[in-house]
Amino acid sequence: MAFPFFLAILASLQNKLKILFFAQIISFKEKRNCIFLFVFSFLFFLSGNSQVKPRIINDITALNPVEVDSILIPLTTEEIANAVKNCKGPISIGGGKYSQGGQTMEEKSLHIDMRGFNKVLNFSKENKEITVQAGIIWRKVLEYIDTFDLSVRIMQTYANFTVGGSLSVNVHGRYVGEGPLILSVKQFNIILADGSLLRASRQENSELFYSAIGGYGGLGVITEVTLYLTDNCKVMRTDKMMKIKNYKNFFFEKIKSDSLAIFHNADIYPRRYKKVRAITYTKTNEKLTETNRLKPLGSKYRFHRFAFRVISGFPGGKWIRKSIFDPLVNLGNPVEWRNFEAGYEVKELEPKSRKKSTYVLQEYFVPVNEFDKFYPEMKKVFRKHHVNVMNVSIRYAKKDPGSLLAWAKQDVFAFVVYYKQGTREKDRGRVREWTKELVDVALSCKGSYYLPYQIHASAEQFAAAYPNAKKFFELKKKLDPQNKFRNKLWDAYYNVKEN
Ligand SMILES: Cc1cc2nc3c(=O)[nH]c(=O)nc-3n(C[C@H](O)[C@H](O)[C@H](O)COP(=O)(O)OP(=O)(O)OC[C@H]3O[C@@H](n4cnc5c(N)ncnc54)[C@H](O)[C@@H]3O)c2cc1C
Repeated sequence: MAFPFFLAILASLQNKLKILFFAQIISFKEKRNCIFLFVFSFLFFLSGNSQVKPRIINDITALNPVEVDSILIPLTTEEIANAVKNCKGPISIGGGKYSQGGQTMEEKSLHIDMRGFNKVLNFSKENKEITVQAGIIWRKVLEYIDTFDLSVRIMQTYANFTVGGSLSVNVHGRYVGEGPLILSVKQFNIILADGSLLRASRQENSELFYSAIGGYGGLGVITEVTLYLTDNCKVMRTDKMMKIKNYKNFFFEKIKSDSLAIFHNADIYPRRYKKVRAITYTKTNEKLTETNRLKPLGSKYRFHRFAFRVISGFPGGKWIRKSIFDPLVNLGNPVEWRNFEAGYEVKELEPKSRKKSTYVLQEYFVPVNEFDKFYPEMKKVFRKHHVNVMNVSIRYAKKDPGSLLAWAKQDVFAFVVYYKQGTREKDRGRVREWTKELVDVALSCKGSYYLPYQIHASAEQFAAAYPNAKKFFELKKKLDPQNKFRNKLWDAYYNVKEN
């Protein structure tokens, strides 16, 4: 009786439950054992504890399916270190998999899915610091620190991303006076290709600190991260429509200099790209109009999905957004908690299907003084190629303090483009064409483009936008001589043949 039990547990640990299950059914002559094993295995599957996962992984766009060799969902640092040390082939690392161009994937790789590695390890209210395992998502961090009236200093608009994935991209948000995430990172632990574990901070292994942040999993697996936190506070929303040509001055005169401004962005309205709606959340002592401390989970977001369908697919959809949806959505001046505003769910953007078309992001960064040069050129590219742009969100980001793959080499305006595209090869080809043109426009403004999205930029464009990539690659050669840490981004730009 104990034998089938033992086999089922062993099988689950080895990710081969299905195979062994059938093997045992065939080999067990005793009917009683057979029935027992069947029931047990079935319950085991239902319990969700099984580590068996489909080996095809994809990202949120559904454009990049890749078959990996095996998937590890680690729960301990030792598991990660042993797996990395003993792995002879390529290793890919995944957090939330919201990057959109295969940055978490490599064929035939050992894929380390970090999402189970998600505990809070240390917290100090006095020092306003938290140490977490890298697979934790921002929402869980917010839930933990909210009870102490603290908030995350820098994160994206949505809270579904993992901390490790966010570090590896060096993300930014809508926080006024902030910039890339590295500004709020105290230190992290990383497992290198030989399985050794190092701590990196501004003082200790600083080269690694400035390389692995924004390093897209190319140097090792980030396991633990210590972040600086800030105070939670009440914020009030205000919005203002204006001509885009007036936005830069408005931002510097009214927003950047306002020490109470917490979140800010401005949405440019396609198809004319002449008007923006600037939205600011300012610290306030007014009474809350939204009493939830965090966004309630589990909404079906029916209105949001409907709105995106209208905007992207209905005749006059862009006008309906500008003249009907947005004025309605932005009615009044709600007062809410900073943590409430920080915690959007990506689900609100999810279409019913991504089979024929999909919603995708891109982002371009230009030095603040180049704002007026960039946006008219961007508009020309969108119009020339009839790009189905739903929104372009402008954010400001402070200069990066020195990461090798910095996207903000000086203070920049970011242009976050949200658009719809078809999934056929022909559609992808069109996107490749206009993306390259837009990258050239950003480069001509001494700017850059963002790397977590589809990988269309040429090697020359990458080198121009990320001139310190050479130093990053030198470090990679030293720390990962066999080029274990692989993904589609580094396949495109790292000279694998040399290794
Ligand atoms: C709807 C949407 C909105 C977005 N909004 C913003 C925004 O406001 N601001 C912004 O800056 N970005 C934004 N992004 C981009 C997003 O921040 C990045 O894609 C980010 O990486 C997502 O985190 P993730 O956990 O999904 O990372 P993943 O996509 O899983 O991984 C990203 C990279 O990090 C590596 N990685 C992951 N975990 C580790 C680890 N523990 N150790 C080493 N390497 C690791 C992966 O290999 C990969 O190269 C948005 C994306 C989407 C889809």
